[in-house]
Amino acid sequence: MVDRLQAPVASLETYPKQTRPVMGSPMKEHRAMWFDNHCHFTSMKADTDEALDAAQAAGVTRFLTVGCTIDDSQAAISIAAQHNQVWATAGVHPHSAKDGIDGLEPLLSQPKVVGVGECGLDYYYDNSPRAEQRSVFAAQIDLALKHDLALVIHSREAWDETFEILATQGVPARTIFHCFTGGPTELDRCMEIGAYVSFSGIVTYPSAPELQQAAQMVPLEQMMVETDSPYLAPVPVRGKANQPANVRHVGEFIANLRDVSAAELAQITTANTMNAYGITEDDATVGS
Ligand SMILES: [Zn+2]
Repeated sequence: MVDRLQAPVASLETYPKQTRPVMGSPMKEHRAMWFDNHCHFTSMKADTDEALDAAQAAGVTRFLTVGCTIDDSQAAISIAAQHNQVWATAGVHPHSAKDGIDGLEPLLSQPKVVGVGECGLDYYYDNSPRAEQRSVFAAQIDLALKHDLALVIHSREAWDETFEILATQGVPARTIFHCFTGGPTELDRCMEIGAYVSFSGIVTYPSAPELQQAAQMVPLEQMMVETDSPYLAPVPVRGKANQPANVRHVGEFIANLRDVSAAELAQITTANTMNAYGITEDDATVGS
C-alpha cells in the first residue's frame, strides 16, 4: 500500500502546500489526480484493496467512505483506519432515520472521521417517516456544528425543507450537497449558504440537461466530484457496479463542459475536497 501511494502524493506536492489553485495561472501539465469525495466501500462487492488498486491506476488517489447507519459508520471508520488515503464520515441516512442516532456522537471523535453524514431528507423513497427524517437531520446538523465537522447532505425531492431546516439549525461552515441533482435554481440556493456541491455520474446522463447546466455555472471553488459507488455508474460504464476509479469519468465530463483540462479540474476539486473536509497535505502524507 505504501508503494502504491507514494507516487501520486509526491506529484501533488509539486504545488505549494495549503495553496488553493488560482484560475488562469499557468499550470504544469501533469497526470490528473482525483479525490472521490463520496463512496461506500462498505457496500461494494469488490474487495477494497482491488478497488483501490483500480482507482490508483485511473489516477484516483484519495477517497472518502461515507457512513449511512451506526454500524455502517463503524465499518467505514475501520476501512479508513486500514488505508492511508481513505477518510470516513459517520452519520445516519434519511432511509434509516427511524432508527435514531444513538451511538453516533462517540464515533465523531474517531481518527480520520472528517464529517457528519450522509444525512438529510429523502421524500422520494420515504423509507422513514418524514417527521423522523427531519428531526434526525436537525440533530446531525447540531452535531456537525458542535464538533466543527463537515456536513454531508443527501436531499431528494425535499429542497425546500432541507433549506428550512438548515436555516433553523444553522449552516455548518463546511456543508456539502452530495450527489447534487438540482438545476440552476437549486444551485443558487446552495451558493447563497456557501455550500459545496458534489457531482456524481448522473451529470453524465443525457437525461440531465439542467444538472449539466448547473455544472457549467457552479464556481469552480465550490465544486467536487464523487462516484457514490457502488451506485450511479457514469457514462461510459453506466449500468455496471460503480467503483471509485470511475470518478475520473465524472470529472472529465465536467472538464469538457467547462473547457478546462481534466488535470486542472482534478487538482481544483481535490483541493476543494481537502478544504471542505479539513484534510491537510500533512494528513495525506502521514504514513505514506
Ligand atoms: Zn452516498
